[in-house]
Amino acid sequence: MNERILDFFTKDALEAARANNTYRTLRHISSPEASHVTIAGKDTVLLASNSYLDLANIPELKQAMADAVLEWGTGSGGARLTTGNKTPHDKLEEFIAKFKGEEAAIAFNTGYMANVGTISALCGKNDFIFSDELNHASIIDGIRLSRAKCFVYKHNDMADLERAIETAKVEFCAREKLAENAVSNFRGLIVTDAVFSMDGDLANLPELLRIARARDCLLMIDEAHATGVLGRTGRGLAEHYNCEHADVTVGTLSKAVAAEGGFVAGSKQLIEFLKNKSRSFIFTTAMAPAVAAAALHNLQFIDAHPERVQQLRDNVKFFCDALRFHGLQVPQTESAIIPIIIGDEAKALRISETLQNEGVLIPAIRYPTVAKGQARLRASLMATHTKEELEFAAAKIAEAI
Ligand code: PMP
Repeated sequence: MNERILDFFTKDALEAARANNTYRTLRHISSPEASHVTIAGKDTVLLASNSYLDLANIPELKQAMADAVLEWGTGSGGARLTTGNKTPHDKLEEFIAKFKGEEAAIAFNTGYMANVGTISALCGKNDFIFSDELNHASIIDGIRLSRAKCFVYKHNDMADLERAIETAKVEFCAREKLAENAVSNFRGLIVTDAVFSMDGDLANLPELLRIARARDCLLMIDEAHATGVLGRTGRGLAEHYNCEHADVTVGTLSKAVAAEGGFVAGSKQLIEFLKNKSRSFIFTTAMAPAVAAAALHNLQFIDAHPERVQQLRDNVKFFCDALRFHGLQVPQTESAIIPIIIGDEAKALRISETLQNEGVLIPAIRYPTVAKGQARLRASLMATHTKEELEFAAAKIAEAI
Protein backbone atom coordinates (compact mmCIF):
# COMPACT_ATOMS: atom_id res chain seq x y z
CA MET A 1 0.00 0.00 0.00
CA ASN A 2 1.41 3.39 -0.97
CA GLU A 3 0.28 5.34 2.08
CA ARG A 4 1.71 8.65 0.90
CA ILE A 5 -0.40 8.62 -2.26
CA LEU A 6 -3.46 7.30 -0.43
CA ASP A 7 -3.08 10.21 2.04
CA PHE A 8 -2.94 12.60 -0.91
CA PHE A 9 -6.30 11.39 -2.18
CA THR A 10 -8.14 10.86 1.11
CA LYS A 11 -6.64 12.42 4.25
CA ASP A 12 -7.77 16.05 3.95
CA ALA A 13 -11.33 15.08 3.07
CA LEU A 14 -11.62 12.73 6.05
CA GLU A 15 -10.14 15.30 8.44
CA ALA A 16 -12.43 18.03 7.14
CA ALA A 17 -15.47 15.77 7.52
CA ARG A 18 -14.52 14.99 11.13
CA ALA A 19 -14.01 18.70 11.86
CA ASN A 20 -17.31 19.92 10.38
CA ASN A 21 -19.72 17.21 11.57
CA THR A 22 -20.16 15.61 8.16
CA TYR A 23 -18.21 12.43 8.97
CA ARG A 24 -20.49 9.42 8.62
CA THR A 25 -20.49 6.04 10.30
CA LEU A 26 -22.72 3.05 9.67
CA ARG A 27 -25.23 2.13 12.32
CA HIS A 28 -25.49 -1.55 13.18
CA ILE A 29 -29.05 -2.89 13.28
CA SER A 30 -29.40 -6.51 14.32
CA SER A 31 -33.03 -7.22 13.40
CA PRO A 32 -35.03 -6.95 10.14
CA GLU A 33 -36.48 -3.62 8.97
CA ALA A 34 -39.81 -3.06 10.75
CA SER A 35 -41.59 -0.35 12.76
CA HIS A 36 -39.21 -1.14 15.62
CA VAL A 37 -35.74 -2.68 15.44
CA THR A 38 -32.94 -3.83 17.73
CA ILE A 39 -29.92 -1.56 18.08
CA ALA A 40 -27.19 -2.53 20.57
CA GLY A 41 -29.67 -4.92 22.17
CA LYS A 42 -32.28 -2.18 22.68
CA ASP A 43 -35.79 -2.17 21.21
CA THR A 44 -36.01 1.06 19.20
CA VAL A 45 -38.89 2.72 17.34
CA LEU A 46 -37.67 3.15 13.76
CA LEU A 47 -38.53 6.49 12.16
CA ALA A 48 -35.95 6.11 9.42
CA SER A 49 -37.22 3.51 7.01
CA ASN A 50 -38.25 3.99 3.39
CA SER A 51 -40.15 0.72 3.56
CA TYR A 52 -43.28 2.83 3.92
CA LEU A 53 -45.83 0.04 3.59
CA ASP A 54 -43.73 -2.47 5.56
CA LEU A 55 -44.23 -5.15 2.92
CA ALA A 56 -40.87 -6.73 3.78
CA ASN A 57 -42.46 -8.52 6.75
CA ILE A 58 -45.60 -9.93 5.15
CA PRO A 59 -45.29 -13.74 5.35
CA GLU A 60 -46.91 -14.46 1.96
CA LEU A 61 -44.56 -12.00 0.22
CA LYS A 62 -41.49 -13.44 1.95
CA GLN A 63 -42.63 -16.90 0.91
CA ALA A 64 -43.16 -15.76 -2.71
CA MET A 65 -39.56 -14.47 -2.83
CA ALA A 66 -38.23 -17.68 -1.25
CA ASP A 67 -40.14 -19.72 -3.85
CA ALA A 68 -38.67 -17.56 -6.63
CA VAL A 69 -35.15 -18.22 -5.31
CA LEU A 70 -35.86 -21.95 -5.39
CA GLU A 71 -37.14 -21.69 -8.96
CA TRP A 72 -34.64 -19.17 -10.42
CA GLY A 73 -31.54 -19.50 -8.25
CA THR A 74 -29.58 -16.77 -6.52
CA GLY A 75 -28.33 -14.61 -9.39
CA SER A 76 -29.13 -13.68 -12.99
CA GLY A 77 -25.80 -14.58 -14.57
CA GLY A 78 -25.71 -11.91 -17.26
CA ALA A 79 -26.78 -8.49 -18.49
CA ARG A 80 -30.37 -8.07 -19.66
CA LEU A 81 -29.29 -7.76 -23.30
CA THR A 82 -27.18 -10.92 -23.18
CA THR A 83 -28.38 -13.90 -21.11
CA GLY A 84 -29.76 -12.22 -17.99
CA ASN A 85 -33.28 -11.49 -19.18
CA LYS A 86 -35.62 -14.01 -17.54
CA THR A 87 -39.40 -14.39 -17.30
CA PRO A 88 -39.65 -12.48 -13.94
CA HIS A 89 -37.94 -9.42 -15.48
CA ASP A 90 -40.42 -9.30 -18.36
CA LYS A 91 -43.41 -9.87 -16.09
CA LEU A 92 -42.21 -7.17 -13.70
CA GLU A 93 -41.90 -4.59 -16.47
CA GLU A 94 -45.31 -5.48 -17.84
CA PHE A 95 -46.87 -5.03 -14.42
CA ILE A 96 -45.06 -1.76 -13.66
CA ALA A 97 -46.46 -0.34 -16.91
CA LYS A 98 -49.97 -1.47 -15.97
CA PHE A 99 -49.66 -0.19 -12.38
CA LYS A 100 -48.40 3.19 -13.57
CA GLY A 101 -50.94 3.43 -16.41
CA GLU A 102 -48.22 3.67 -19.08
CA GLU A 103 -47.55 1.85 -22.35
CA ALA A 104 -44.30 0.27 -21.21
CA ALA A 105 -41.64 0.13 -18.49
CA ILE A 106 -37.99 -0.81 -18.03
CA ALA A 107 -36.47 -2.11 -14.80
CA PHE A 108 -33.02 -1.04 -13.60
CA ASN A 109 -30.98 -2.52 -10.74
CA THR A 110 -31.54 0.56 -8.56
CA GLY A 111 -33.43 3.84 -8.68
CA TYR A 112 -30.05 5.57 -8.69
CA MET A 113 -29.13 3.75 -11.90
CA ALA A 114 -32.53 4.54 -13.42
CA ASN A 115 -32.01 8.28 -12.95
CA VAL A 116 -28.39 8.29 -14.04
CA GLY A 117 -29.03 6.06 -17.05
CA THR A 118 -32.16 7.86 -18.23
CA ILE A 119 -30.91 11.44 -18.07
CA SER A 120 -27.53 10.61 -19.60
CA ALA A 121 -29.19 8.65 -22.43
CA LEU A 122 -31.77 11.32 -23.24
CA CYS A 123 -29.48 14.35 -23.10
CA GLY A 124 -26.07 15.19 -24.51
CA LYS A 125 -23.80 18.20 -24.41
CA ASN A 126 -25.92 20.31 -26.76
CA ASP A 127 -29.08 19.89 -24.69
CA PHE A 128 -30.64 21.89 -21.87
CA ILE A 129 -31.82 20.50 -18.54
CA PHE A 130 -33.88 22.33 -15.92
CA SER A 131 -33.48 20.85 -12.45
CA ASP A 132 -35.09 21.75 -9.10
CA GLU A 133 -32.41 22.84 -6.61
CA LEU A 134 -33.49 20.14 -4.12
CA ASN A 135 -33.38 17.22 -6.55
CA HIS A 136 -31.88 13.92 -5.42
CA ALA A 137 -28.16 13.22 -5.92
CA SER A 138 -28.90 10.54 -8.54
CA ILE A 139 -30.58 13.17 -10.73
CA ILE A 140 -27.64 15.52 -10.25
CA ASP A 141 -25.19 12.75 -11.16
CA GLY A 142 -27.23 11.86 -14.27
CA ILE A 143 -27.11 15.51 -15.36
CA ARG A 144 -23.35 15.67 -14.80
CA LEU A 145 -22.84 12.52 -16.81
CA SER A 146 -24.95 13.86 -19.69
CA ARG A 147 -22.74 16.98 -19.98
CA ALA A 148 -25.88 18.95 -20.92
CA LYS A 149 -26.16 22.62 -19.96
CA CYS A 150 -28.04 22.61 -16.66
CA PHE A 151 -30.14 25.41 -15.20
CA VAL A 152 -30.97 24.86 -11.53
CA TYR A 153 -34.24 26.58 -10.62
CA LYS A 154 -35.33 27.60 -7.13
CA HIS A 155 -37.16 24.91 -5.23
CA ASN A 156 -40.69 24.43 -6.59
CA ASP A 157 -40.55 27.99 -8.00
CA MET A 158 -42.41 27.80 -11.31
CA ALA A 159 -41.72 31.43 -12.25
CA ASP A 160 -37.99 30.80 -11.80
CA LEU A 161 -38.27 27.68 -13.97
CA GLU A 162 -39.97 29.66 -16.74
CA ARG A 163 -37.28 32.34 -16.50
CA ALA A 164 -34.58 29.67 -16.75
CA ILE A 165 -36.17 28.20 -19.90
CA GLU A 166 -36.35 31.64 -21.51
CA THR A 167 -32.66 32.27 -20.66
CA ALA A 168 -31.77 28.90 -22.18
CA LYS A 169 -33.70 29.74 -25.35
CA VAL A 170 -31.76 32.99 -25.75
CA GLU A 171 -28.52 31.06 -25.26
CA PHE A 172 -29.70 28.44 -27.75
CA CYS A 173 -30.46 31.08 -30.38
CA ALA A 174 -27.07 32.72 -29.89
CA ARG A 175 -25.31 29.37 -30.17
CA GLU A 176 -27.25 28.33 -33.25
CA LYS A 177 -26.92 31.83 -34.70
CA LEU A 178 -30.69 32.20 -34.90
CA ALA A 179 -32.75 35.30 -34.43
CA GLU A 180 -34.03 35.44 -30.86
CA ASN A 181 -37.56 34.39 -31.83
CA ALA A 182 -36.48 31.52 -34.11
CA VAL A 183 -36.48 28.87 -31.42
CA SER A 184 -38.44 26.14 -33.12
CA ASN A 185 -35.57 23.64 -32.79
CA PHE A 186 -35.18 24.22 -29.04
CA ARG A 187 -35.85 21.30 -26.72
CA GLY A 188 -35.20 20.79 -23.04
CA LEU A 189 -35.73 18.37 -20.20
CA ILE A 190 -37.37 19.46 -16.94
CA VAL A 191 -36.54 17.06 -14.13
CA THR A 192 -37.82 17.00 -10.58
CA ASP A 193 -38.36 14.78 -7.58
CA ALA A 194 -42.07 14.04 -7.09
CA VAL A 195 -41.62 13.99 -3.30
CA PHE A 196 -38.53 15.85 -2.13
CA SER A 197 -36.60 13.42 -0.02
CA MET A 198 -35.38 15.75 2.73
CA ASP A 199 -38.48 17.96 3.04
CA GLY A 200 -41.34 15.64 2.15
CA ASP A 201 -43.10 18.27 0.02
CA LEU A 202 -44.46 17.62 -3.47
CA ALA A 203 -43.66 18.88 -6.95
CA ASN A 204 -46.46 20.85 -8.61
CA LEU A 205 -47.20 18.38 -11.40
CA PRO A 206 -50.12 20.23 -13.08
CA GLU A 207 -48.07 23.42 -13.35
CA LEU A 208 -44.94 21.56 -14.49
CA LEU A 209 -46.98 19.84 -17.21
CA ARG A 210 -48.36 23.17 -18.39
CA ILE A 211 -44.89 24.74 -18.55
CA ALA A 212 -43.31 21.72 -20.25
CA ARG A 213 -46.03 21.64 -22.94
CA ALA A 214 -45.95 25.39 -23.53
CA ARG A 215 -42.17 25.65 -23.69
CA ASP A 216 -40.95 22.65 -25.71
CA CYS A 217 -39.69 20.56 -22.84
CA LEU A 218 -40.02 16.93 -21.85
CA LEU A 219 -41.02 16.43 -18.21
CA MET A 220 -39.35 13.77 -16.06
CA ILE A 221 -40.35 13.06 -12.46
CA ASP A 222 -38.69 10.81 -9.90
CA GLU A 223 -41.33 9.01 -7.86
CA ALA A 224 -38.93 7.27 -5.46
CA HIS A 225 -40.91 8.47 -2.41
CA ALA A 226 -44.26 8.71 -4.20
CA THR A 227 -44.85 5.17 -5.50
CA GLY A 228 -46.97 3.27 -2.98
CA VAL A 229 -47.47 6.48 -0.99
CA LEU A 230 -49.29 9.17 -2.98
CA GLY A 231 -52.75 8.90 -4.47
CA ARG A 232 -55.62 6.79 -3.17
CA THR A 233 -54.10 3.57 -4.50
CA GLY A 234 -50.43 4.54 -4.23
CA ARG A 235 -49.88 5.09 -7.94
CA GLY A 236 -48.04 8.34 -7.33
CA LEU A 237 -48.10 12.04 -8.08
CA ALA A 238 -50.48 12.00 -11.08
CA GLU A 239 -53.05 10.06 -9.06
CA HIS A 240 -52.60 12.51 -6.19
CA TYR A 241 -53.37 15.50 -8.43
CA ASN A 242 -55.75 13.57 -10.69
CA CYS A 243 -53.88 14.95 -13.70
CA GLU A 244 -51.95 13.75 -16.74
CA HIS A 245 -48.68 11.84 -16.29
CA ALA A 246 -45.20 13.24 -16.83
CA ASP A 247 -43.48 12.12 -20.05
CA VAL A 248 -40.86 10.14 -18.14
CA THR A 249 -41.68 8.59 -14.76
CA VAL A 250 -38.81 7.14 -12.74
CA GLY A 251 -39.26 5.17 -9.55
CA THR A 252 -37.60 2.77 -7.18
CA LEU A 253 -38.58 -0.74 -6.16
CA SER A 254 -36.56 -0.40 -2.95
CA LYS A 255 -38.75 1.85 -0.81
CA ALA A 256 -42.52 1.26 -0.52
CA VAL A 257 -42.22 -1.76 -2.84
CA ALA A 258 -39.72 -3.27 -0.38
CA ALA A 259 -37.60 -5.15 -2.91
CA GLU A 260 -34.66 -3.73 -4.85
CA GLY A 261 -34.38 -1.99 -8.19
CA GLY A 262 -35.56 1.04 -10.12
CA PHE A 263 -37.77 1.64 -13.13
CA VAL A 264 -38.83 4.04 -15.83
CA ALA A 265 -42.40 4.02 -17.14
CA GLY A 266 -43.58 5.85 -20.25
CA SER A 267 -44.30 5.44 -23.94
CA LYS A 268 -43.16 2.36 -25.89
CA GLN A 269 -40.76 4.55 -27.84
CA LEU A 270 -39.15 5.93 -24.68
CA ILE A 271 -38.64 2.45 -23.22
CA GLU A 272 -37.33 1.05 -26.51
CA PHE A 273 -34.85 3.95 -26.60
CA LEU A 274 -33.67 3.33 -23.03
CA LYS A 275 -33.20 -0.41 -23.63
CA ASN A 276 -30.93 0.51 -26.52
CA LYS A 277 -29.14 3.56 -25.15
CA SER A 278 -29.08 3.62 -21.36
CA ARG A 279 -25.60 2.60 -20.25
CA SER A 280 -26.58 1.77 -16.65
CA PHE A 281 -29.10 -0.71 -18.10
CA ILE A 282 -26.84 -2.17 -20.79
CA PHE A 283 -23.51 -2.57 -19.00
CA THR A 284 -24.56 -4.25 -15.80
CA THR A 285 -25.67 -7.70 -14.71
CA ALA A 286 -29.45 -8.00 -14.48
CA MET A 287 -31.07 -7.95 -11.05
CA ALA A 288 -31.52 -11.46 -9.66
CA PRO A 289 -34.73 -12.96 -11.11
CA ALA A 290 -35.94 -13.68 -7.57
CA VAL A 291 -35.62 -9.96 -6.77
CA ALA A 292 -37.65 -9.13 -9.89
CA ALA A 293 -40.24 -11.71 -8.83
CA ALA A 294 -40.35 -10.21 -5.30
CA ALA A 295 -40.82 -6.69 -6.71
CA LEU A 296 -43.64 -8.01 -8.94
CA HIS A 297 -45.45 -9.77 -6.08
CA ASN A 298 -45.06 -6.76 -3.79
CA LEU A 299 -46.42 -4.39 -6.44
CA GLN A 300 -49.35 -6.74 -7.03
CA PHE A 301 -49.97 -6.65 -3.27
CA ILE A 302 -50.08 -2.83 -3.31
CA ASP A 303 -52.46 -2.99 -6.26
CA ALA A 304 -54.79 -5.31 -4.33
CA HIS A 305 -54.53 -3.49 -0.97
CA PRO A 306 -55.14 0.25 -1.26
CA GLU A 307 -56.13 0.18 2.43
CA ARG A 308 -52.44 -0.29 3.26
CA VAL A 309 -51.71 3.09 1.62
CA GLN A 310 -54.55 4.65 3.63
CA GLN A 311 -53.10 3.13 6.83
CA LEU A 312 -49.81 4.93 6.09
CA ARG A 313 -51.63 8.20 5.48
CA ASP A 314 -53.55 7.81 8.78
CA ASN A 315 -50.25 7.28 10.61
CA VAL A 316 -48.71 10.40 9.07
CA LYS A 317 -51.66 12.48 10.23
CA PHE A 318 -51.62 10.94 13.70
CA PHE A 319 -47.88 11.54 14.12
CA CYS A 320 -47.96 15.16 12.86
CA ASP A 321 -50.89 15.88 15.21
CA ALA A 322 -48.94 14.31 18.10
CA LEU A 323 -45.84 16.41 17.36
CA ARG A 324 -47.97 19.56 17.19
CA PHE A 325 -49.69 18.61 20.43
CA HIS A 326 -46.22 18.55 22.02
CA GLY A 327 -45.55 22.06 20.71
CA LEU A 328 -43.39 21.22 17.69
CA GLN A 329 -43.73 22.85 14.29
CA VAL A 330 -44.13 20.48 11.38
CA PRO A 331 -45.15 21.34 7.84
CA GLN A 332 -48.36 20.09 6.29
CA THR A 333 -47.25 16.95 4.49
CA GLU A 334 -48.94 14.56 2.11
CA SER A 335 -45.95 12.26 1.86
CA ALA A 336 -44.57 9.97 4.58
CA ILE A 337 -41.52 12.19 5.23
CA ILE A 338 -41.73 14.65 8.10
CA PRO A 339 -38.86 17.09 8.66
CA ILE A 340 -38.32 18.73 12.04
CA ILE A 341 -35.94 21.61 11.42
CA ILE A 342 -33.20 22.11 14.05
CA GLY A 343 -30.75 24.35 12.15
CA ASP A 344 -27.38 23.76 13.76
CA GLU A 345 -25.58 20.58 12.56
CA ALA A 346 -23.97 19.64 15.89
CA LYS A 347 -27.22 20.20 17.77
CA ALA A 348 -29.21 18.01 15.36
CA LEU A 349 -26.63 15.24 15.76
CA ARG A 350 -26.73 15.52 19.55
CA ILE A 351 -30.53 15.31 19.64
CA SER A 352 -30.57 12.32 17.31
CA GLU A 353 -28.02 10.52 19.53
CA THR A 354 -30.00 11.30 22.68
CA LEU A 355 -33.15 9.95 21.05
CA GLN A 356 -31.42 6.76 19.96
CA ASN A 357 -30.40 6.16 23.59
CA GLU A 358 -34.05 6.74 24.54
CA GLY A 359 -35.28 4.14 22.03
CA VAL A 360 -36.22 6.31 19.02
CA LEU A 361 -34.19 6.22 15.81
CA ILE A 362 -34.70 9.43 13.87
CA PRO A 363 -31.72 10.48 11.77
CA ALA A 364 -30.09 13.90 11.79
CA ILE A 365 -29.86 15.06 8.17
CA ARG A 366 -27.20 17.68 7.70
CA TYR A 367 -24.88 19.41 5.28
CA PRO A 368 -24.03 18.44 2.54
CA THR A 369 -27.31 16.48 2.16
CA VAL A 370 -29.19 19.70 3.04
CA ALA A 371 -27.97 23.32 3.04
CA LYS A 372 -25.70 24.52 5.87
CA GLY A 373 -27.71 25.65 8.90
CA GLN A 374 -30.73 23.64 7.76
CA ALA A 375 -29.95 20.48 9.72
CA ARG A 376 -33.04 18.54 10.69
CA LEU A 377 -34.45 15.40 12.16
CA ARG A 378 -36.21 13.53 9.40
CA ALA A 379 -38.95 11.08 10.31
CA SER A 380 -40.23 8.63 7.76
CA LEU A 381 -43.27 6.62 8.71
CA MET A 382 -44.54 3.14 8.02
CA ALA A 383 -48.09 1.84 7.67
CA THR A 384 -47.45 -0.56 10.56
CA HIS A 385 -46.27 1.88 13.22
CA THR A 386 -48.67 1.51 16.13
CA LYS A 387 -50.31 4.53 17.70
CA GLU A 388 -48.38 3.73 20.91
CA GLU A 389 -45.04 3.78 19.04
CA LEU A 390 -45.88 7.09 17.37
CA GLU A 391 -47.12 8.70 20.59
CA PHE A 392 -44.01 7.50 22.46
CA ALA A 393 -41.71 8.83 19.71
CA ALA A 394 -43.45 12.23 19.51
CA ALA A 395 -43.16 12.72 23.28
CA LYS A 396 -39.48 11.72 23.32
CA ILE A 397 -38.66 14.03 20.38
CA ALA A 398 -40.35 16.99 22.07
CA GLU A 399 -38.47 16.25 25.29
CA ALA A 400 -35.09 15.98 23.52
CA ILE A 401 -35.49 19.27 21.62
N1 PMP B 1 -34.44 9.20 -6.03
C1 PMP B 1 -34.72 9.63 -4.80
C2 PMP B 1 -35.55 10.87 -4.63
C3 PMP B 1 -34.25 8.91 -3.69
O1 PMP B 1 -34.52 9.33 -2.44
C4 PMP B 1 -33.50 7.74 -3.89
C5 PMP B 1 -33.00 6.88 -2.74
N2 PMP B 1 -32.49 7.53 -1.67
C6 PMP B 1 -33.24 7.35 -5.20
C7 PMP B 1 -33.73 8.09 -6.25
C8 PMP B 1 -32.41 6.14 -5.50
O2 PMP B 1 -33.17 4.97 -5.40
P1 PMP B 1 -32.47 3.59 -5.02
O3 PMP B 1 -32.30 3.58 -3.54
O4 PMP B 1 -33.40 2.55 -5.53
O5 PMP B 1 -31.15 3.58 -5.73
